[in-house]
Amino acid sequence: MSLFKLTLKDLQGKFIRGEISAVEIVRSYLLRLTQVEPKIKAYVTLRDKESLLTQAGAIDQSLRGWRKTQPLMAMPLAIKDNICTKGLRTTCSSRILDEFVPPYDATVMARLNTHQPLILGKTNLDEFAMGSSTEHSAYGPSRNPWNQKYIPGGSSGGSAAAVAADECVAALGSDTGGSIRQPAACCGVVGLKPTYGRVSRYGLVAFASSLDQIGPITKTVTDAAMLLNVIAGHDLLDSTSSRQDVPDFTKALKKRDVKKLVIGVPQEYFAEGLDSEVNGKVQEAIRTLQDLGGTIKEISLPFTEKAIATYYLIATAEASSNLARYDGVKFGLRAKESKELAEMYRQTRSQGFGPEVKRRIMLGTYALSAGYYEAYYAKAQAVRTLIQQDFSDAFQNVDVLVSPVMPTPAFPLGERLEDPLQMYLSDVYTIPSSLAGIPAISIPCGFSTMGLPIGVQIMGRPFDELIVLRVAHAYEQATTWHTKRPVIRS
Ligand code: GLN
Repeated sequence: MSLFKLTLKDLQGKFIRGEISAVEIVRSYLLRLTQVEPKIKAYVTLRDKESLLTQAGAIDQSLRGWRKTQPLMAMPLAIKDNICTKGLRTTCSSRILDEFVPPYDATVMARLNTHQPLILGKTNLDEFAMGSSTEHSAYGPSRNPWNQKYIPGGSSGGSAAAVAADECVAALGSDTGGSIRQPAACCGVVGLKPTYGRVSRYGLVAFASSLDQIGPITKTVTDAAMLLNVIAGHDLLDSTSSRQDVPDFTKALKKRDVKKLVIGVPQEYFAEGLDSEVNGKVQEAIRTLQDLGGTIKEISLPFTEKAIATYYLIATAEASSNLARYDGVKFGLRAKESKELAEMYRQTRSQGFGPEVKRRIMLGTYALSAGYYEAYYAKAQAVRTLIQQDFSDAFQNVDVLVSPVMPTPAFPLGERLEDPLQMYLSDVYTIPSSLAGIPAISIPCGFSTMGLPIGVQIMGRPFDELIVLRVAHAYEQATTWHTKRPVIRS
């Protein structure tokens, strides 16, 4: 079997047992990348072959004699291109950062690097993670490995496509309103958004700081738990990172049932706008969870319908403030032809940002401006609290919540590009849990008649990733969806 088809756990097992070398892993993936990357376009930047082979050679050399490995040693990973990688270009898929090479590593990278993984490259995203399809990338969209005429989802579409197309064994993404879970659903892989504060945001290029969170995109739930084990934990460099204990997340996977667990089904997530095929598959998943011993309970999250409006005020307000730093002075692009400072700012930002980023900056600046602040931003914050309250009320009676990830399967490239509201609606089911800061996972639960993957979402209490992973794993073990891989034709 080709190495690139293996899950992280299986590849790791073979490597730790000494059955394969790091150089063999690199060679297998380089071959895979040559075959499929021209069609999928998952990456913005690929590490050069020589440096990968040199790193792999050094790893193999160091293991001669005494074989002491770490869980992610020699594992070929892909990193979303809004996570700073020291010495490796980090663009956020924006022209404004086209040539930006970070002088430091994000905390997640520093943690990964202690294991000596093989970082294959940086994956495509919607510019500054604003979008649901990768079509807002300055480098063009990535393709859905199941059908290249369709979006891979976004904004972590490159990471999800790379995992689904076997162009890396696992990846990191970031999720602000659904950007890990929605592309995972579109590409038929697993995507976990941890609790806000579980993983350090230091070195994650900020979009909306009160929502942003880094998490794994993988082939299985076990692989997601393995990656989370490495990246989770308190970090002095991020004051919003939590001091909560970090359990061994793979422990959650021992139990293969959901006995004694109450599984809530929020009725607002099954209302108007939900595609009937997605509904059918998610209902089937709920029945499977019932068969596995779960008690199903219908519940209500009444403020769900306010979530999109709330999110697009808070996220844009934070984005307009975070993106003020791109002024042509400190980072990245600087417009050359301007004669004085204000003109240089204006031209740099006009040339450097794409249309969606400009739209968000304008919306956010408006929401924060004097006279409108109370009416929009402050109101949105108040409603965010009500949405959080909805979830904490629900979790008095249930252990997890189950819902669709996205109202439809992946849509064709170009379909929603001219209609921002339609694009924003891709995230109706992921945004509420982002606003509440709770953990949520997307796992595959079937295919549409068009052959496109469908995902089911499992949400849990704050810092209860263990239960989320346990339920997801039990479901995964009872089904075969996670074993399906796309055939990529030229
Ligand atoms: N699609 C949503 C947006 O455009 C969420 C993006 C994200 O989670 N980064 O804002």
